[in-house]
Formats: sequence, C-alpha cells, structure tokens
Amino acid sequence: MGIKISGVEIAKKYREEIKGVVSSLVEKGARKPCLASILVGEDGGSLSYMKNQMKISNDLGITYETVSFSATATEEEVIAKIHELNESELIDGIILQLPLPKTLNENNIISAISYKKDVDGLTDINIGKFFKGDHSFSPCTARSVLELTKDVCKNLSGKNAVIVGRSNIVGKPASFLLLNENCTITICHSKTANMKDICKNADVLVAAIGKPNFITKEYVKDGAIVIDVGTTMVEGKVRGDVNFDDVIDTAAFVTPVPGGVGAMTTTMLMKNTCEAWLKNVCKDTNSYCGK
Ligand code: NAP
Repeated sequence: MGIKISGVEIAKKYREEIKGVVSSLVEKGARKPCLASILVGEDGGSLSYMKNQMKISNDLGITYETVSFSATATEEEVIAKIHELNESELIDGIILQLPLPKTLNENNIISAISYKKDVDGLTDINIGKFFKGDHSFSPCTARSVLELTKDVCKNLSGKNAVIVGRSNIVGKPASFLLLNENCTITICHSKTANMKDICKNADVLVAAIGKPNFITKEYVKDGAIVIDVGTTMVEGKVRGDVNFDDVIDTAAFVTPVPGGVGAMTTTMLMKNTCEAWLKNVCKDTNSYCGK
C-alpha cells in the first residue's frame, strides 16, 4: 500500500519558515512584504484563488493588495497600472489572475510586469532565465511538483521521470526542474503513442493533463512516485488526473487532489514574494539582513 504525500503538511513547513523570516526582519524595522494581485473581470476560479492567496498572505505577514478592473477594462488601463506597480518601492511582487477576459491580449499584459516583480514566473525574461538555469522565479506549480517529489525522494539522480502534459505553465517547467535534478525525462502529450508503456517505466510520474481519473494502475510502475497536478471540477468537486484509489496499491507515493500540488502552489508564490522582498529590503541596508 502506497503512502499519500500531503501537500498540506509540506506547505505548512514552508509557511513556518517564511513566517519566521518575515517576522524577524519586520521586528527589526523592515517594512512588510507586499504582493499586488490584479484581477480583471470576475472569473469564479480567480476569485477563489485570490481568497486563498489573501488568507495565506495575511497569515504569513505579507500584505496582499488587490487591484480590480471591470471586465470591460482596456489593455492600456491594465498596463498603465502595472507600470505604476513596477515603479512602486512598496510592492515586491505582482500576480496577474488568469484567465483574462478574451478581449485582452494576455501576452502583452504579462510582458508589462517587471521581471523583478514577476513572482509567478510568467514573463519572457523569467522564462528565458529559468530555462538557461539563471536565478529566476520558478513557475509556482512546477516548483510544487519538484518540492513534493523531493520530500519523499531526496536524491532523484538517474530516475526516469515521465511528465504527461507539455503546457508552458506546468508540463515543460516541471520537466525542466526534474531534469535539473538529473532525472532522465520523457514528456508525453495528446499525440504520444504507447503512453501506458512509457508511463509504466516511470520512477516519477507527473500527470498534468486536466482529464479526471485518467491515470490508472495500468500506467504506474510498482513503487513509483505519482504527482497529480490535474484539477477539474466534476459535479461540484475538484478531481485530479490520477485515480488515487486505483493506483495507491501499486505506487509508493501519490499526491491527493485536493490536498496535494494545489495546496503547495500558493505557498510557492509566497516563497517567491518573500525572496523578492528580501532583495528589496536588504538592498540598501545591512541592518535587517545581517550582512
Ligand atoms: P493545458 O494547457 O490544457 O495542457 C494540457 C496538456 O495535457 C497538453 O500538453 C495536452 O497535450 C495534454 N493532454 C491532454 N489530453 C491528453 C491525453 N489524453 N493524453 C496525453 N496528454 C494529454 O493544461 P495545464 O494548464 O498544463 O493544466 C493541466 C492540469 O493541471 C489542469 O487540470 C489544470 O487545472 C491543472 N493545474 C493545476 C494547478 C495547481 O496548482 N494544482 C496549476 C495549474 C494547472 P497537447 O499539448 O498535445 O494538446
């Protein structure tokens, strides 16, 4: 019988760490970290993500500043606000809630965010830095995949990792992070032939396709680590891409949905925000940061 990897518990450990760093510097007189969150329109999913982000920010001592636009806002209006946030010395991170209304060009708006404040790792500069291996903000979901995997296997070197899904936001960056851990990676997608055989060879299997319960035990190697990124609403409940009950006897470790990757993602966003803040508050002074 495999073991459930609890994203909730692992996220707690990270949050304690972030909270400790924030409170110790704020006690010494540093300003609090601040994350600006931009919402255009009223997408239900975004509203619920924002509520969760706000709750976690507050708990960690991070100010969460919401900037809301109506669904009819123009690209120029949103970009002008982003430029203002880029210039502000009080804002450390900016997150744009996606999806945007269809009338707006997502790329143009994301590109307006300063890479120094792009804590979601979505700008071209940060994507370029990420794939070059330079320090940048890693995309938060991909980072969660890595942290959950490493929590149960410290040394991933030489492992076969199969990532099902090749999106820019999850599949590709998750593959790259696993490659950096010296895994041998295979990326599957909707045109992959013999996917079951490929997956069955995976020491680490990451499912990021958005097809509920798609991955069954026929796809899973004995003793594998299975990371489920999928989140699809089915009859009012969130479901993963992995049939948890079916694979738990074959795999060594499986993440649940909910309570797995999703539970870590917001914490990774806060970790990136905290890193941006540390750079800002430690830039001009030795007094907070002990340098
Ligand atoms: P996406 O952009 O729609 O990409 C889905 C990928 O899955 C594509 O590469 C697609 O292949 C592949 N795919 C679809 N059906 C397949 C099949 N039958 N066999 C093999 N590959 C298949 O989705 P995404 O943004 O990466 O998100 C994936 C899932 O993760 C969604 O459920 C999303 O809600 C969830 N998600 C969760 C979090 C979190 O924090 N928990 C964050 C982001 C996303 P092609 O490229 O060939 O079309």
